[in-house]
Amino acid sequence: MIPFKRINGISRFFDIKIFQPGDPQIDSEYGHFSEKRGTIGLSPEQKGGQLIDTLEHELGHLIIEEMGIAHLVKDEEKFVNAFARGRVALKRLNPDLERWMLDELERERDAGD
Ligand SMILES: [Zn+2]
Repeated sequence: MIPFKRINGISRFFDIKIFQPGDPQIDSEYGHFSEKRGTIGLSPEQKGGQLIDTLEHELGHLIIEEMGIAHLVKDEEKFVNAFARGRVALKRLNPDLERWMLDELERERDAGD
């Protein structure tokens, strides 16, 4: 399971909640994003690629809200599903690129200190 209880969601923090299957507040069996409650919900059984795909999906919702582009997206579920699958595929196919991007951002941050 994810080792984070909260993430920095650009303009504010979001709590990571593990929900129980059948929770009436959750309309998905995998994950949930609530801008209003400031939460990302994840079902407890997920791991590996499924967990990362769900997390990327919920982060897609977060980005759409945080960047104020909801009005540009006609079918948000379809968009975040495709975006999440693409992000997971690129991570799998290019792990060195993902690590390099993080390293490059850290080098820039460290140079600015
Ligand atoms: Zn969704």
